Amino acid sequence: MSENAEFDANATPICVTGASGFIAAHLTAQLLECGYTTVRGTVRNADDAQRYAYLTSLPQANGRLELVAADLLDWPSLDRAVSGCRCVFHTASPYVLDTKHPQTDLVDPAVQGTLGILEACLKSPSVQRVVITSSMAAITDQPGDDVLTEADWNKRSSLTRNPYYYSKTLAERAAWDFVEQHSPNFEVVVINPFMVIGPSHGPGLNTSNAVIAEIIQGKMPGILSLAWGFVDVRDVALAHIRAMQNPRAAGRYLCAHETWTMAELVSRLKSLELDQHHLPSMNLDHAAGRLLVRLLSYFQPPGRRSYLQTNLGRIPKFDNSKIKTELGIEFRPLEDTLRDTVEDLQRWGHI
Ligand code: NAP
Repeated sequence: MSENAEFDANATPICVTGASGFIAAHLTAQLLECGYTTVRGTVRNADDAQRYAYLTSLPQANGRLELVAADLLDWPSLDRAVSGCRCVFHTASPYVLDTKHPQTDLVDPAVQGTLGILEACLKSPSVQRVVITSSMAAITDQPGDDVLTEADWNKRSSLTRNPYYYSKTLAERAAWDFVEQHSPNFEVVVINPFMVIGPSHGPGLNTSNAVIAEIIQGKMPGILSLAWGFVDVRDVALAHIRAMQNPRAAGRYLCAHETWTMAELVSRLKSLELDQHHLPSMNLDHAAGRLLVRLLSYFQPPGRRSYLQTNLGRIPKFDNSKIKTELGIEFRPLEDTLRDTVEDLQRWGHI
C-alpha cells in the first residue's frame, strides 16, 4: 500500500470473513464506527436474518453492512466475497480444541480457506491489503523459558498433538509461502493473538471465553499449573484495523497483553465477588498437583489432553513491543477486560 494511502471512508468495500465470529463481530463494529462506508461480512447462512441480527443491528450497520454467503471450502464464494474490495480481513477459521476429524474439521478449512482467500484476492485488482488473523498457536504450542517473539514458529503440533494449533500454523505458513510464490500486488499482514477474552456481540460462547466460564462454574478440578497470555477482544479488533491503516505495517504482530497464571485469574475472579460461583479452591499448582493433572489428562478428549500435557507448568513469556510501537496499541487493563467478560457471560446466560 502506498504512503498516505489512508483509507477513504467513501471508498470501495472492506471485507471481513467470518463476520459472525467473536473477534470479527468486534472488528465489523469498529470498522462501522470508524466510518468505513461499506463493510462486507461473510457468513455461512446469509439467508438466516435472525441468526445475524446482532450484526445487522450494530450501530451504523443499516445500509452499510452487507452480509454475503461464503464457505472456506467453496472457493467461488470467496471470489464473490472479496471482489471489488480494497482490504480483506481474513478471520474465519474453525476454533475448537477437540474434534474427531482434525484434518477435515480444522486443517482443511484453515489452510484451504486462507489459500482460497489469497487466490480470490489475486483475481481482484482492487485488493491492496489482506490482514490475516493467525494465532499465538502458530508461534508455539509449548511455551519454554525463552521470551516469545514474532520470529518464533510452532514446529511441534500435528494432527494428534494440539490439532487446532497445527491448523493455524499450516494456514499462516501457507499464506507466507503464497506471498513468496506469487509476489501479489497486495500486501499481507498477520495478527497473532493469544488468549482473547472480552464481551461478545453475539450469543455464542467463544472457546477462549468458555475457559473463564468453566472456571467460574467449577468445572476444573482445582487451580491448575496453567497460564495464559490474555488480550482484550476490543484491542485485537483495533490491532486489525491499525494493520490495515498503517502503510508501514508488515509481517506478523504478536498480540497479547499480559500473562496470568490460573491462580492469579482465580484470585482476580474472587475479587469480583460473583453472586453464584464455584471457583476452584484446591491448589494443584505444585509438583504433585501437576503429576496428578497429567495422569487425569489421559481421561480427557485428545485435544484437551495434548493441551494439558504441553502446557502444564509452563508460563508463557512474550515480547509485545512490535504491536505497541508499530501499530500504537495500548492494551486496556486486564482487570477491566475480566470484569467486562464476566458481566457479559452473565448477560448471555453462559454462567
Ligand atoms: P469464532 O467466534 O469461533 O469465529 C470463527 C469464525 O469462523 C465464525 O464466523 C465461523 O462461522 C467461521 N468459520 C469457521 N469455519 C468456517 C468455514 N468452513 N467457512 C466459513 N466460515 C467458517 O472464533 P474467534 O475467536 O472469533 O476466531 C476468529 C479467528 O481468530 C480465528 O482465525 C481464530 O483461529 C483466531 N484466534 C482466536 C483466538 C481466541 O482466543 N479467540 C486467539 C487467536 C486466534 P460460523 O459462525 O458459521 O461458525
